[in-house]
Amino acid sequence: MKPKRKNKSVVSRTLEKKKAKIKFKKPKITTGPNYDLKKHGVTQSILQQWLACRLACKYSLQGWRSTGLKVALEFGSLFHNLLEKQYKAIINNKKELNIDYELNKWSKEILKTYPDNQTVNDMMVKIKILWENYFVQWKEDYKRAWVGVETKFDVKYNGVRLRGMRDGLYRCKKTGSLWLLETKTYSDVNEQTMSDRLLFDFQNLFYITATEEELKEDVKGVLYNIIVKPRHRLGKKETYKEFYSRLKDVIPQDLDKYFVRFEVPYGKKRKEHFKKELNNILFYFNDWFYNNMEPTFRSSTYTCLGKIACSFLKACAQMSMTGYERRNDLMEELGGLK
Ligand code: SF4
Repeated sequence: MKPKRKNKSVVSRTLEKKKAKIKFKKPKITTGPNYDLKKHGVTQSILQQWLACRLACKYSLQGWRSTGLKVALEFGSLFHNLLEKQYKAIINNKKELNIDYELNKWSKEILKTYPDNQTVNDMMVKIKILWENYFVQWKEDYKRAWVGVETKFDVKYNGVRLRGMRDGLYRCKKTGSLWLLETKTYSDVNEQTMSDRLLFDFQNLFYITATEEELKEDVKGVLYNIIVKPRHRLGKKETYKEFYSRLKDVIPQDLDKYFVRFEVPYGKKRKEHFKKELNNILFYFNDWFYNNMEPTFRSSTYTCLGKIACSFLKACAQMSMTGYERRNDLMEELGGLK
Protein backbone atom coordinates (compact mmCIF):
# COMPACT_ATOMS: atom_id res chain seq x y z
CA MET A 1 0.00 0.00 0.00
CA LYS A 2 1.22 3.43 -0.91
CA PRO A 3 1.92 5.73 2.07
CA LYS A 4 -0.67 8.44 2.52
CA ARG A 5 0.56 11.91 1.69
CA LYS A 6 -0.97 15.14 2.81
CA ASN A 7 -2.14 17.44 0.03
CA LYS A 8 0.38 20.20 -0.35
CA SER A 9 -0.99 23.69 0.00
CA VAL A 10 -0.66 26.25 -2.77
CA VAL A 11 1.76 28.17 -0.58
CA SER A 12 4.11 25.24 -0.04
CA ARG A 13 4.01 24.39 -3.76
CA THR A 14 4.93 27.99 -4.57
CA LEU A 15 7.81 27.92 -2.12
CA GLU A 16 9.08 24.67 -3.56
CA LYS A 17 9.27 26.29 -6.97
CA LYS A 18 11.41 29.02 -5.47
CA LYS A 19 13.98 26.52 -4.23
CA ALA A 20 14.88 25.90 -7.85
CA LYS A 21 17.91 27.79 -9.13
CA ILE A 22 17.30 31.42 -9.86
CA LYS A 23 16.70 31.98 -13.58
CA PHE A 24 17.87 35.32 -14.89
CA LYS A 25 15.93 37.15 -17.58
CA LYS A 26 17.12 39.96 -19.81
CA PRO A 27 16.57 43.38 -18.23
CA LYS A 28 13.82 45.31 -20.03
CA ILE A 29 15.16 48.75 -19.19
CA THR A 30 18.49 50.38 -18.57
CA THR A 31 18.87 49.92 -14.86
CA GLY A 32 21.40 52.49 -13.91
CA PRO A 33 25.15 52.87 -14.31
CA ASN A 34 25.95 49.32 -15.40
CA TYR A 35 24.47 47.16 -12.74
CA ASP A 36 23.10 43.77 -13.65
CA LEU A 37 22.12 41.21 -11.04
CA LYS A 38 23.30 38.20 -13.00
CA LYS A 39 26.66 39.75 -13.80
CA HIS A 40 27.46 41.65 -10.62
CA GLY A 41 25.61 39.78 -7.88
CA VAL A 42 24.24 41.28 -4.67
CA THR A 43 25.44 42.52 -1.33
CA GLN A 44 23.54 42.26 1.91
CA SER A 45 23.03 46.02 1.88
CA ILE A 46 21.33 45.96 -1.54
CA LEU A 47 18.97 43.24 -0.32
CA GLN A 48 18.31 44.97 2.98
CA GLN A 49 17.54 48.22 1.22
CA TRP A 50 15.23 46.40 -1.17
CA LEU A 51 13.44 44.78 1.77
CA ALA A 52 13.06 48.14 3.46
CA CYS A 53 11.95 50.19 0.44
CA ARG A 54 11.75 49.19 -3.23
CA LEU A 55 12.01 52.79 -4.32
CA ALA A 56 15.19 53.54 -2.33
CA CYS A 57 16.75 50.39 -3.78
CA LYS A 58 15.78 51.38 -7.31
CA TYR A 59 17.34 54.81 -6.88
CA SER A 60 20.53 53.29 -5.43
CA LEU A 61 20.92 50.72 -8.19
CA GLN A 62 20.43 53.46 -10.76
CA GLY A 63 23.39 55.23 -9.17
CA TRP A 64 21.53 58.16 -7.60
CA ARG A 65 23.38 59.72 -4.68
CA SER A 66 22.70 62.82 -2.66
CA THR A 67 25.19 65.59 -3.45
CA GLY A 68 25.29 66.62 0.24
CA LEU A 69 27.56 64.88 2.72
CA LYS A 70 25.80 62.67 5.27
CA VAL A 71 27.84 63.83 8.21
CA ALA A 72 26.03 61.51 10.64
CA LEU A 73 27.60 58.56 8.83
CA GLU A 74 31.11 60.01 8.89
CA PHE A 75 31.78 59.13 12.52
CA GLY A 76 31.18 55.41 12.00
CA SER A 77 32.98 55.24 8.70
CA LEU A 78 36.06 57.08 9.98
CA PHE A 79 36.33 54.87 13.07
CA HIS A 80 35.82 51.83 10.90
CA ASN A 81 38.63 52.89 8.53
CA LEU A 82 40.98 53.45 11.45
CA LEU A 83 40.19 50.02 12.86
CA GLU A 84 40.76 48.46 9.47
CA LYS A 85 44.26 49.95 9.29
CA GLN A 86 45.08 48.99 12.85
CA TYR A 87 43.86 45.38 12.58
CA LYS A 88 45.85 44.98 9.36
CA ALA A 89 48.91 46.32 11.19
CA ILE A 90 48.32 43.79 13.99
CA ILE A 91 48.11 40.76 11.76
CA ASN A 92 51.07 41.89 9.64
CA ASN A 93 53.19 42.86 12.68
CA LYS A 94 53.43 46.41 11.38
CA LYS A 95 53.68 49.74 13.19
CA GLU A 96 50.62 51.07 15.05
CA LEU A 97 48.87 53.89 13.27
CA ASN A 98 49.42 57.47 14.35
CA ILE A 99 45.98 58.71 15.37
CA ASP A 100 46.82 62.44 15.27
CA TYR A 101 48.20 62.15 11.76
CA GLU A 102 45.15 60.17 10.60
CA LEU A 103 42.68 62.61 12.15
CA ASN A 104 44.40 65.66 10.69
CA LYS A 105 44.48 64.07 7.26
CA TRP A 106 40.77 63.23 7.50
CA SER A 107 39.76 66.70 8.76
CA LYS A 108 41.62 68.49 5.94
CA GLU A 109 39.79 66.35 3.43
CA ILE A 110 36.32 66.61 4.92
CA LEU A 111 36.53 70.37 5.48
CA LYS A 112 36.82 70.83 1.71
CA THR A 113 33.24 69.60 1.24
CA TYR A 114 31.82 70.17 4.71
CA PRO A 115 33.18 73.45 6.06
CA ASP A 116 31.81 73.11 9.59
CA ASN A 117 34.78 73.31 11.96
CA GLN A 118 32.69 72.72 15.05
CA THR A 119 31.20 69.39 13.91
CA VAL A 120 34.55 68.22 12.57
CA ASN A 121 36.46 69.17 15.76
CA ASP A 122 33.80 67.56 17.91
CA MET A 123 34.14 64.32 15.98
CA MET A 124 37.93 64.45 16.16
CA VAL A 125 37.94 64.81 19.95
CA LYS A 126 35.48 61.94 20.47
CA ILE A 127 37.20 59.63 18.01
CA LYS A 128 40.59 60.32 19.55
CA ILE A 129 39.31 59.48 23.04
CA LEU A 130 37.57 56.32 21.84
CA TRP A 131 40.63 55.30 19.89
CA GLU A 132 42.91 55.70 22.91
CA ASN A 133 40.68 53.37 24.88
CA TYR A 134 39.49 50.81 22.33
CA PHE A 135 42.52 48.54 22.56
CA VAL A 136 42.67 49.03 26.32
CA GLN A 137 39.23 47.44 26.45
CA TRP A 138 39.96 44.81 23.78
CA LYS A 139 43.63 43.99 24.29
CA GLU A 140 42.87 40.33 23.57
CA ASP A 141 42.47 41.33 19.89
CA TYR A 142 46.28 41.48 19.67
CA LYS A 143 46.44 37.78 20.51
CA ARG A 144 43.49 36.53 18.49
CA ALA A 145 44.14 33.83 15.87
CA TRP A 146 43.09 36.01 12.93
CA VAL A 147 42.30 34.27 9.67
CA GLY A 148 41.78 37.60 7.93
CA VAL A 149 40.64 41.18 8.38
CA GLU A 150 38.70 43.23 5.84
CA THR A 151 38.63 40.37 3.39
CA LYS A 152 36.28 40.39 0.42
CA PHE A 153 34.06 37.43 -0.34
CA ASP A 154 32.46 36.62 -3.67
CA VAL A 155 30.66 33.28 -3.80
CA LYS A 156 27.97 31.72 -5.96
CA TYR A 157 24.89 30.84 -3.96
CA ASN A 158 21.83 29.39 -5.65
CA GLY A 159 23.12 30.81 -8.93
CA VAL A 160 23.66 34.35 -7.57
CA ARG A 161 26.96 36.01 -6.64
CA LEU A 162 26.91 37.01 -2.97
CA ARG A 163 29.48 39.74 -2.35
CA GLY A 164 30.73 41.59 0.68
CA MET A 165 33.60 42.41 2.98
CA ARG A 166 34.15 40.76 6.37
CA ASP A 167 35.49 43.02 9.11
CA GLY A 168 37.29 40.07 10.64
CA LEU A 169 37.45 36.29 10.74
CA TYR A 170 39.28 34.40 13.48
CA ARG A 171 39.64 31.00 15.03
CA CYS A 172 38.69 30.47 18.66
CA LYS A 173 41.89 29.22 20.31
CA LYS A 174 40.03 26.93 22.70
CA THR A 175 37.64 25.20 20.32
CA GLY A 176 39.24 25.81 16.92
CA SER A 177 35.91 27.05 15.56
CA LEU A 178 35.58 29.96 13.14
CA TRP A 179 33.99 33.26 14.20
CA LEU A 180 33.28 36.48 12.36
CA LEU A 181 33.92 39.92 13.81
CA GLU A 182 31.50 42.65 12.78
CA THR A 183 31.88 46.25 13.94
CA LYS A 184 29.14 48.89 14.18
CA THR A 185 28.81 52.36 15.67
CA TYR A 186 25.69 53.25 17.64
CA SER A 187 24.48 56.23 19.60
CA ASP A 188 22.90 54.02 22.21
CA VAL A 189 22.54 50.31 22.95
CA ASN A 190 19.75 48.51 24.70
CA GLU A 191 21.50 45.26 25.56
CA GLN A 192 18.33 43.17 25.92
CA THR A 193 16.68 44.15 22.65
CA MET A 194 20.00 44.11 20.83
CA SER A 195 20.85 40.57 21.93
CA ASP A 196 17.40 39.39 20.77
CA ARG A 197 17.65 41.16 17.42
CA LEU A 198 21.13 39.88 16.70
CA LEU A 199 19.90 36.30 16.84
CA PHE A 200 18.25 36.83 13.45
CA ASP A 201 20.44 39.64 12.10
CA PHE A 202 20.32 39.64 8.30
CA GLN A 203 23.88 40.81 7.70
CA ASN A 204 25.41 38.37 10.18
CA LEU A 205 23.57 35.40 8.68
CA PHE A 206 24.29 36.55 5.12
CA TYR A 207 28.02 36.73 5.93
CA ILE A 208 27.95 33.37 7.68
CA THR A 209 26.19 31.74 4.70
CA ALA A 210 28.70 33.23 2.25
CA THR A 211 31.73 32.36 4.41
CA GLU A 212 30.59 28.76 4.86
CA GLU A 213 30.02 28.50 1.09
CA GLU A 214 33.50 29.88 0.47
CA LEU A 215 35.49 27.93 3.06
CA LYS A 216 33.29 24.82 3.22
CA GLU A 217 33.57 25.01 6.97
CA ASP A 218 31.11 25.69 9.76
CA VAL A 219 31.14 29.26 11.14
CA LYS A 220 30.11 29.19 14.76
CA GLY A 221 28.89 32.75 15.14
CA VAL A 222 29.59 36.47 15.14
CA LEU A 223 31.38 38.63 17.66
CA TYR A 224 29.32 41.79 17.30
CA ASN A 225 31.53 44.71 18.20
CA ILE A 226 29.73 47.95 19.08
CA ILE A 227 31.27 51.36 19.59
CA VAL A 228 28.94 53.80 21.31
CA LYS A 229 29.37 57.47 20.45
CA PRO A 230 29.85 59.66 23.54
CA ARG A 231 26.98 62.12 23.97
CA HIS A 232 29.04 64.78 25.72
CA ARG A 233 28.87 68.31 24.36
CA LEU A 234 31.41 71.06 24.24
CA GLY A 235 30.81 73.50 27.13
CA LYS A 236 29.92 77.10 26.26
CA LYS A 237 33.26 78.45 27.41
CA GLU A 238 35.27 75.31 26.82
CA THR A 239 38.04 74.97 24.25
CA TYR A 240 38.46 71.70 22.33
CA LYS A 241 41.61 71.06 24.35
CA GLU A 242 39.60 71.34 27.57
CA PHE A 243 36.81 69.22 26.11
CA TYR A 244 39.34 66.51 25.30
CA SER A 245 40.77 66.67 28.86
CA ARG A 246 37.29 66.36 30.32
CA LEU A 247 36.49 63.29 28.21
CA LYS A 248 39.89 61.85 29.02
CA ASP A 249 38.84 61.81 32.67
CA VAL A 250 35.38 60.35 32.25
CA ILE A 251 35.42 57.88 29.33
CA PRO A 252 38.05 55.47 30.76
CA GLN A 253 35.91 55.09 33.87
CA ASP A 254 33.04 53.71 31.84
CA LEU A 255 34.60 51.59 29.12
CA ASP A 256 31.86 48.95 29.26
CA LYS A 257 29.39 51.61 28.19
CA TYR A 258 31.32 52.70 25.10
CA PHE A 259 32.67 49.35 23.96
CA VAL A 260 30.11 46.57 23.94
CA ARG A 261 30.48 43.11 22.44
CA PHE A 262 27.92 40.37 21.90
CA GLU A 263 29.05 36.84 21.19
CA VAL A 264 26.23 35.55 18.99
CA PRO A 265 26.34 31.83 18.16
CA TYR A 266 24.23 30.63 15.22
CA GLY A 267 23.09 27.00 15.31
CA LYS A 268 22.25 24.71 12.42
CA LYS A 269 18.49 25.28 12.72
CA ARG A 270 18.89 29.06 12.55
CA LYS A 271 21.21 28.88 9.55
CA GLU A 272 18.91 26.53 7.65
CA HIS A 273 15.98 28.81 8.36
CA PHE A 274 17.93 31.79 7.06
CA LYS A 275 18.89 29.98 3.87
CA LYS A 276 15.22 29.32 3.07
CA GLU A 277 14.50 32.99 3.73
CA LEU A 278 17.42 34.07 1.55
CA ASN A 279 16.26 31.81 -1.29
CA ASN A 280 12.85 33.46 -1.22
CA ILE A 281 14.33 36.95 -1.05
CA LEU A 282 16.62 36.25 -4.02
CA PHE A 283 13.70 34.83 -5.96
CA TYR A 284 11.54 37.90 -5.46
CA PHE A 285 14.47 40.33 -5.86
CA ASN A 286 15.37 38.73 -9.19
CA ASP A 287 11.75 38.94 -10.29
CA TRP A 288 11.53 42.61 -9.32
CA PHE A 289 14.88 43.54 -10.85
CA TYR A 290 14.15 42.00 -14.24
CA ASN A 291 10.64 43.41 -14.37
CA ASN A 292 11.51 47.08 -14.61
CA MET A 293 12.19 47.41 -10.88
CA GLU A 294 8.63 48.55 -10.37
CA PRO A 295 8.39 50.29 -7.01
CA THR A 296 5.43 48.08 -6.13
CA PHE A 297 5.35 49.79 -2.78
CA ARG A 298 7.43 52.32 -1.00
CA SER A 299 8.48 52.24 2.59
CA SER A 300 6.45 53.05 5.64
CA THR A 301 7.48 56.25 7.40
CA TYR A 302 9.59 54.17 9.81
CA THR A 303 12.24 53.53 7.15
CA CYS A 304 12.03 57.06 5.75
CA LEU A 305 13.10 58.54 9.06
CA GLY A 306 14.64 55.54 10.91
CA LYS A 307 17.80 55.98 12.99
CA ILE A 308 19.17 58.20 10.22
CA ALA A 309 16.81 59.75 7.64
CA CYS A 310 16.76 58.01 4.25
CA SER A 311 19.08 59.71 1.78
CA PHE A 312 16.19 59.88 -0.74
CA LEU A 313 13.85 61.73 1.61
CA LYS A 314 14.16 64.94 -0.41
CA ALA A 315 13.61 63.09 -3.69
CA CYS A 316 10.37 61.60 -2.38
CA ALA A 317 9.25 64.85 -0.79
CA GLN A 318 9.91 66.95 -3.90
CA MET A 319 9.13 64.23 -6.47
CA SER A 320 12.31 65.26 -8.24
CA MET A 321 15.99 64.36 -8.27
CA THR A 322 17.21 67.93 -7.71
CA GLY A 323 20.10 67.72 -5.25
CA TYR A 324 21.08 64.24 -6.49
CA GLU A 325 23.60 63.04 -9.04
CA ARG A 326 24.23 59.72 -10.72
CA ARG A 327 27.51 58.03 -9.84
CA ASN A 328 29.27 54.85 -10.80
CA ASP A 329 30.22 53.90 -7.25
CA LEU A 330 28.04 50.85 -6.71
CA MET A 331 29.98 48.13 -4.82
CA GLU A 332 33.02 50.43 -4.96
CA GLU A 333 34.62 49.01 -1.80
CA LEU A 334 34.38 45.53 -3.35
CA GLY A 335 36.18 46.51 -6.50
CA GLY A 336 33.12 47.94 -8.26
CA LEU A 337 30.93 46.41 -10.95
CA LYS A 338 33.05 43.60 -12.29
S1 SF4 B 1 12.18 58.51 1.71
FE1 SF4 B 1 11.00 56.70 2.31
S2 SF4 B 1 9.72 56.19 0.52
FE2 SF4 B 1 11.35 57.59 -0.18
S3 SF4 B 1 12.97 56.25 -0.93
FE3 SF4 B 1 13.44 56.72 1.21
S4 SF4 B 1 12.52 55.07 2.42
FE4 SF4 B 1 11.63 54.99 0.37
